[in-house]
Amino acid sequence: MEYQRILEEIHAALKDVPQKGMVASYIPELRKIDADRFGLYLLTLDKQEFGTGHFDTPFSIQSISKVLSLARALEFVGTDLWERVDVEPSGNPFNFLTLLELERGIPRNPFINAGALVVSDVLLSHFDNPKEDFLNYVRELAQDGSICYNEAVAASEKATGYRNAAAANLLKAFGNMHNKVEDVLDFYFYQCSLSMSCRQLATTFYMFANSGKNAGGKTFISPSQVKRINAVMLTCGFYDEAGEFAFEVGLPGKSGVGGGIVAVHPGKYCISTWAPGLNEKGNSLLGMQALEMFTTKTGYSIF
Ligand code: GLU
Repeated sequence: MEYQRILEEIHAALKDVPQKGMVASYIPELRKIDADRFGLYLLTLDKQEFGTGHFDTPFSIQSISKVLSLARALEFVGTDLWERVDVEPSGNPFNFLTLLELERGIPRNPFINAGALVVSDVLLSHFDNPKEDFLNYVRELAQDGSICYNEAVAASEKATGYRNAAAANLLKAFGNMHNKVEDVLDFYFYQCSLSMSCRQLATTFYMFANSGKNAGGKTFISPSQVKRINAVMLTCGFYDEAGEFAFEVGLPGKSGVGGGIVAVHPGKYCISTWAPGLNEKGNSLLGMQALEMFTTKTGYSIF
């Protein structure tokens, strides 16, 4: 398969389109990102790499980090986690609060903000220095000590994260948060501020295509946990557009409001895109189109 040629064709076809979507503005620091950035990167299971455009430029991975915190939490709490968080698509935006009230503090899934806050709470209960542990975990997965939090993004979200504070307080009121609300929010904002390039992102997600082993061959989670996390990515990874992503692209994946998307084909490859302009559902407009073109041109989707 001529992967490099295919990535270049996709990049050339999309990079100058007039409709690039809107850069997220509700986190003030993200407003500063140049909407013309566009990178694609592919890592195959046999560790061949292909990339075009801004695939080596770090960006804010935001909600994509929720997959990594989930993987980390499952190491400690195992299936008990599913008593506190469900695994159903919400059909609503990531920061929607009504369901949380109706369903008495059990978030629909770990990728809406309320669910990710419960996962953050689990990590806080297990570590004295959760921010440090989580960063080390991600660096180890990626075998890359240069990955960092972006302090300015974390501070910017902390200053404006009223909906997340509301969700955290509701969780606390329902008894589904064991640590202090402000400590959980602080960890969550740092987690979301992780900064990675497309190359670092696909490398970090290698274990989800490789039965739980990272690119260095170390086991982090079991094949059964990979199955479950990939299933949640497929059904809940794209806000209320998960059906559309499965329909158009046909891969488990996760997006973030920084404009990144990572997707995996178990046993075959990890692919990542970055284009900061979002569609009205909060997913990267060009990223979704690029991945649809990739699985159509190669014929490699999980379906
Ligand atoms: N930190 C963002 C928030 O909580 C994450 C949103 C996202 O990427 O979906 O609003």
